[in-house]
Amino acid sequence: MATEESWNLLKDEALRSTAQGEAQGLGLKKGRYFKTDVVWTNALIFLVSHLVAVPAFYLWAFFRISWQTWLFSLALGLGSSQGILLGAHRYYTHRSYKATLPLRVLIIFWNTIAIQNCLWEWARDHRQHHKHSDTDADPHNATRGFFFSHVGWLMMRKHPDVIAKGKDIDMSDLESDPLIMFQKRHYLLLVLLLSVAMPIGVPMYFWNESFAVSFLVPFLLRTIIVLNFTWMVNSWAHAFGNKPYDKSIRPVESLLVALVSLGEGWHNYHHCFPWDYRAAELSLGGFNPTTNVIHFFAWLGWAYDLKQASDTVVAARVQRTGDGSHPSVADTKTTTTTAKTSETESLDNTFPSTPLLRPGKHSCALWHSNVESTVICR
Ligand SMILES: [Zn+2]
Ligand SMILES: [Zn+2]
Repeated sequence: MATEESWNLLKDEALRSTAQGEAQGLGLKKGRYFKTDVVWTNALIFLVSHLVAVPAFYLWAFFRISWQTWLFSLALGLGSSQGILLGAHRYYTHRSYKATLPLRVLIIFWNTIAIQNCLWEWARDHRQHHKHSDTDADPHNATRGFFFSHVGWLMMRKHPDVIAKGKDIDMSDLESDPLIMFQKRHYLLLVLLLSVAMPIGVPMYFWNESFAVSFLVPFLLRTIIVLNFTWMVNSWAHAFGNKPYDKSIRPVESLLVALVSLGEGWHNYHHCFPWDYRAAELSLGGFNPTTNVIHFFAWLGWAYDLKQASDTVVAARVQRTGDGSHPSVADTKTTTTTAKTSETESLDNTFPSTPLLRPGKHSCALWHSNVESTVICR
């Protein structure tokens, strides 16, 4: 009830602001803008931590840290990333494969170090993101702008639709998992121990690193970098790239995001087939290290029942809703053009055979990127 009232108040305010905007000739579109409260504590934490990360980056960039601290920070960064990527995302949110107890314990451990909310909350937000993608009920609705979908959503009060529709997200599988509920219940304590005390304490105790460096690099800088690389999936991969699988949705394929997020940038594919453990089409040579880590755990016997979309299903989707940038579509065009060229050449042999120029939004090797390029295929 309270939610409905606050929603009505918000809508009134939105209409007033929009009407004022229109009256003042600002050209605001109806319903596009509304007022929202900033959560100042969160905003300050993000601002200060990013500002302090600058000298931390200086320390790291100019190697004023020991090699042990450098390696330790890298290991924490990669491990905590996997706590999010193969853990919170591909396993707990999408259930794209099954995991044994040791892998689940490992996921909880690495996930806590990433400090991106407990797994229950992360999975709830992400399930909601897929269910109501790029609408007001999406926690990081990309139609509200790059900044909002990147980090702004974490420093503002939730849109009433997010609160209302969040209650319909089925979380029963996670709620019946004692490990998940243990992490949820003791999240603050676990963060203090594993995400703050451990990254700072280990370098100080084992190789006499100073407190300042231990605080700035393995704890702060590493956390900020992993956070921003993860946020890029919600912001950049919903804005700049091509859409070979479904041109009617915002998520795109982005090589840049795939590089920084270790394989989560093939987002147009992922939104079409969220239950596919690869989160991309491997057969096309996409950069996807997280999938290789899942393969490693499958080899170890800790991950099994890996789900993936069949080539036939993917091809049908490409034909039905893709934007034409998928290599199979480009290859069809090339075959047709080559056939026509051969036909012409057989009719007139006075012209020498020339390389076929194939303009498009992809190159042979890096077809996922959105770089406008001309490829010469001989
Ligand atoms: Zn998305
Ligand atoms: Zn997802």
